[in-house]
Formats: sequence, C-alpha cells, structure tokens
Amino acid sequence: MRRPLVAGNWKMNGTRASVAELIEALRLQDFPAGVEVAVFPSSLHLTQVVSGLQGRAIAVGAQDCAAEAGFGALTGEESASQLVDAGASWVLVGHSERRLIMGESDEVVSKKFVAALACGMTPALCLGETLEQRQAGQTLEVVGRQLASVLAGAGVAAFEKAVVAYEPVWAIGTGLTATPQQAQEVHAAIREQLAREDRRIADGVRILYGGSVKAENAAELFEMQDIDGGLIGGASLKANDFGAICRAA
Ligand code: PEP
Repeated sequence: MRRPLVAGNWKMNGTRASVAELIEALRLQDFPAGVEVAVFPSSLHLTQVVSGLQGRAIAVGAQDCAAEAGFGALTGEESASQLVDAGASWVLVGHSERRLIMGESDEVVSKKFVAALACGMTPALCLGETLEQRQAGQTLEVVGRQLASVLAGAGVAAFEKAVVAYEPVWAIGTGLTATPQQAQEVHAAIREQLAREDRRIADGVRILYGGSVKAENAAELFEMQDIDGGLIGGASLKANDFGAICRAA
C-alpha cells in the first residue's frame, strides 16, 4: 500500500508576516493521519516554517537545490547540504518553472536528484509536457525521456527514496486540470517505465499529480489507481483549501 502524500509548493510567495499567518492557519487544520503532508516554502522562510510547524506532522522541503552537494564557490545557489542544515527533509527537483524558465536540462535535473539523495533528502522529481508537446502526441515520449535521464543518472534503486510528480505544464497555474483519465494514463506509463527496471520499486513509488488541483477536483484525481496524492501550487497558499485537499487524499 502506498501512503498518500500531499505537498504544497508555495513558490516565490510570502513575507515573514504572511508566512507566520499561514503557519498558524496550518496548525489549526485537521490533517488525516493516513496522509503524509509536506510544504515547500521559499528557502528564505525554511527555518521559520520548520520551527513554526514543530510538533505537527508536516514535513518541510525546499523548492530546488544546487546540482552539487556540499559547500563552495557557487554564488546564489543553495546546496542540499545547506537545506538539510536549515531543516528541510524534502526537495522539489525539475519543476517545470525551473526547466522552462531557468533552462534546467534533464542532465542538471538528474544531478540535483543525486545531490539531494546524497544529503539524505527525499527528492520529488517533477515531470511534464507542454501544451504543444501534448497536442503533437508527444506526452509519453517527453515524460519518458525526462524520467530516463534520472534513471540513467541515479539508478532505479534511488526511487525507493524518492517520489515522482507528474505535472503537465499546461495545467500549472492555469486553472486547467488534466482529467483523471489523462493523468492516470501518464502515471501508469511512469510506473511501467520504472517497472521495466524493478517491479517492486515501481509498485512502491508514489506518483503525485500536480496542475490546478483544488478542493473540488482533488478527490476524483486521487481516486485513480496510480495517483498517490498531489503537488499543489496556488491552493496550498490557503490553509483551508490545502487542508481540504489533504482530507480528499
Ligand atoms: C505547481 O506549481 O507545482 C502547481 C501544481 O501549481 P498549481 O497547483 O497552482 O497549478
């Protein structure tokens, strides 16, 4: 049995004051014991969120990490080693905003995944196609290539300590959600690709769906066989909505 996971990506949002309010509101939420919950604030707010959520079963993660672990001359970067020191136990890797806006290649994403694992963090590997790629019938090929790159760099055993998030780019922040069937098709393909290397690991890995998940559409997505929870952007900034999504998992 795969334990459902709901993760909130706060992106480049929040001030210390608004983050303090969100922490207080999250502390009041009723999260189901069977669901794992994690939030990913900006790294500026990591220590604030870690200490603010102490005593609550909510893990805290970073939204990105450097491709190299450790310390050194890399101005503006934050390594997994530093993020662990700040209290983060999870990290998003390969979010489409980083792939497409910051130009992160499959190879860099794979290195970040390896660096995170080397520091004991759990990476959430984000995969997804653009609208043009979907319209051209290339969804499974694109997602398959993104996954293959990390499989080549990290090996299938790494997926015992990682999760995957399928996030169609056209659904992120747009209000357009993949239908449960569209998402399930890709989730099943991701699991099958992992199963070709190791069936037991593939059966155990959690594959989250992300892309305009809201309290109203979460349950029908989470009902699908290969959807093991969600990566939530906009709706994770509202504690009541995020709580409702967690209760739907
Ligand atoms: C995301 O950025 O990971 C995401 C899923 O965003 P949203 O829920 O706002 O579409």
